[in-house]
Amino acid sequence: MPVPSAETAAAAAAFLDGQKITASQCGGCGKEIYGIKGRYSCACGWTNPWWEGHGDLPAAETDPDWPGHVAQP
Ligand SMILES: [Zn+2]
Repeated sequence: MPVPSAETAAAAAAFLDGQKITASQCGGCGKEIYGIKGRYSCACGWTNPWWEGHGDLPAAETDPDWPGHVAQP
């Protein structure tokens, strides 16, 4: 396995810095569960609806694999 560069590690740390761990109650089994920015999934199979998350999800256009991008020759 390749060792990540310092740049990659710094980018990962910056990304993780922007994440916020939040807690809630499972809508399926009632256990206390933890998620990132208001988005949860529980071991019982329950997940909260995407629109309950804090903040917007990235748009499809921001995905490098989005088919609308013009392929580079
Ligand atoms: Zn549950």
